[in-house]
Amino acid sequence: MKPLFLFLLSFSFFGLFATQKSGEYAHVTQETLHQERTTKNFSETRKDFPLLTSKPNLVYFDNAASTQKPKEVIDTITKIYEHSYANIGRGTYQLSLEAGKAYETAREKTAHFINATPEEIIFVSGATEGINFIASTWGEKTIQEGDEIVLSVLEHNANLLPWLSLAQKKKATLKFIPVNSDGTIDLSNLDSIITSRAKLLAITQSSNAIGTHPHLEKIIAKAHQVGALVLVDGAQSVPYGKVDIKELDVDFFVFSGHKMLAPTGIGVLYIKKGLQHYIPPYQLGGGMCVLNDDDSFTYKHSVSKFEAGTPPFVQAIGMGAAIDYLNTIDFDLMQKHLATFCKKTIEGLEKLPGVTIYGPKEELKKHGHLVSFSIEGLSSEDISDYLDQYGIAVRTGSHCAHKIACVLGYDSTVRVSFYLYNTLDEVDYFLGVIRKLIEEHKTSNLQSLFNLTEKNKRSCKQLN
Ligand code: PMP
Repeated sequence: MKPLFLFLLSFSFFGLFATQKSGEYAHVTQETLHQERTTKNFSETRKDFPLLTSKPNLVYFDNAASTQKPKEVIDTITKIYEHSYANIGRGTYQLSLEAGKAYETAREKTAHFINATPEEIIFVSGATEGINFIASTWGEKTIQEGDEIVLSVLEHNANLLPWLSLAQKKKATLKFIPVNSDGTIDLSNLDSIITSRAKLLAITQSSNAIGTHPHLEKIIAKAHQVGALVLVDGAQSVPYGKVDIKELDVDFFVFSGHKMLAPTGIGVLYIKKGLQHYIPPYQLGGGMCVLNDDDSFTYKHSVSKFEAGTPPFVQAIGMGAAIDYLNTIDFDLMQKHLATFCKKTIEGLEKLPGVTIYGPKEELKKHGHLVSFSIEGLSSEDISDYLDQYGIAVRTGSHCAHKIACVLGYDSTVRVSFYLYNTLDEVDYFLGVIRKLIEEHKTSNLQSLFNLTEKNKRSCKQLN
């Protein structure tokens, strides 16, 4: 047996995982799940996830990239393909009608989940498509030379590149809300950043790179005060806390299913009902308009206008199942649970030599779900490779959020991100492995394991 594997076994908590039985949730109803979940330890949710039960030694800390899927979601999708699959919208036979009904039920569940109405929920492939949708439709129609689009420096490229491209094309200007040195959002110059020239504020509710939660209330109020519309990127917030669209007071909102237990290929674009008539369709095709005899189109007065072609209805129904699962979770408790992991990770890493943690540490200890860090003398890829040998999956790089990487001066970080099935034991184990890595690095044993390359810092072009 490999020495590394023996080392891995020496961590007693793995015994916990080994005793779990897979598949035992198959017969549990939603009702019983609800009763159990609100009282039971979150760590027990691990057994709801077939991949995690099939890999008892896996420590999955890449949840901000994508979460694992519970058995309920997998079963829902499998059952559709095995028993009730037919294209929706056009067929008048039973199978098609039932699939169509299930798709609309998924829309209702999704709307309810964020306190919107079903008429405001457009299914897209993910947050990226949702933002590109608005840039190519509302943005193309509205933005003109001299207009300003306000973002924050925290944005994921999905909420930067569509606006950058639009601004270049239309000779508009991008402006950025900065951060303080600790990664919290800096609101001190809001009045000079969001002016009457602003047509749109497009901002994240939670940073995927360093975990900052911008205080959106004040920023959104300011944008509306100057007559700008507001798009919020909820890709890193909806999976972790209750979002109330009405309370948030936004015009557009996007998030991705795969980051909240749902399948890939499904996401949500919320467009406020009163704005929908002004927004042209993103794509033209089946089911979204009536083609008149004189070749003019009359668009449908419903979300169908925005969902040309066969929609990702199986994925959407899978998303409905994910929402059913999440509805059994007490989100306040989950937030506390994940913040405990962040606190332990931050406090553990802080004790180690050469570690830099990026982002608002105090904020993360209270309501974070991820921690980004680097270790002096080691590239993040080397750290990730080392952790991988111990069964720990983490993400490295700039996390597609280049602006904040430039501002805080890192090239790449290691990001650990947690979800409801993770445990404090896993955090302890992770810290133990990192400690071992640093020890070995000190004595240079690692040179034999890796071809260590300390990368030069990227020279970042500032966007303004
Ligand atoms: N915004 C944020 C904050 C994200 O974390 C991500 C995914 N990393 C996206 C947008 C893009 O999401 P998707 O790739 O699912 O479209």
